[in-house]
Amino acid sequence: MHIQDNLKNINAQLPNHVTLVAVSKTKPVSDLMEAYTAGQRIFGENKIQEMVEKHELMPKDIQWHMIGHVQRNKVKYMADFVSLIHAVDSLKLLKEINKQAKKHNRIIDCLLQIKIAKEDSKFGMSPLDAKELITSEDFSELKNVSITGVMGMATYTNDTEQIKQEFKTLKTTYDDLKTTNHSLEVISMGMSGDYQLAIDAGSTMIRVGSSIFGSRNYSN
Ligand SMILES: *Cc1c(COP(=O)(O)O)cnc(C)c1O
Repeated sequence: MHIQDNLKNINAQLPNHVTLVAVSKTKPVSDLMEAYTAGQRIFGENKIQEMVEKHELMPKDIQWHMIGHVQRNKVKYMADFVSLIHAVDSLKLLKEINKQAKKHNRIIDCLLQIKIAKEDSKFGMSPLDAKELITSEDFSELKNVSITGVMGMATYTNDTEQIKQEFKTLKTTYDDLKTTNHSLEVISMGMSGDYQLAIDAGSTMIRVGSSIFGSRNYSN
């Protein structure tokens, strides 16, 4: 029953405007079902194949979020059901999502991933590139994708000041992009270790895994 307790505790702390994405990557469907039974309907996965398999096995009223880096050649596998793609970082990827969404007569919601961490390993666009993309003619021609917000990951560090600064950068970027695109509404930031800081900095969507499902074992 730990999963249900964890969910209850986290939900009790969340302001109404913050959406919880339960990050279930590497976890078995039985764990996801426990969260589902407790009322959770939004799940985040970082591998398309794994998300496709879980989507097939689980109830159909779940919203599936792709939170990981997306390879263009795999977009087709999730295009018929994915509800939000968090980590879009190029026009090329957006064009592919648009193409696959069109085949299913859908509009797929996407977030632009902004690089806010100082670490090199993180994906994402610069705020300037995001602005260029969102105001470009190329983008305006894509009728089957909608950019509904931004996503970012802070540096993995104990330095809370640094994390706060990075989240603040994402909020500022969002505010700036919103002046040109009024349909933005999502700031996806905050994970198990830093979601309180993220909420304080203006997050509207947190992606929490280990605090709900326990730590992950990548060897299986
Ligand atoms: C794994 C993952 C999370 C959740 O991480 P936890 O620390 O387990 O909460 C959030 N966002 C992304 C992009 C992830 O890959």
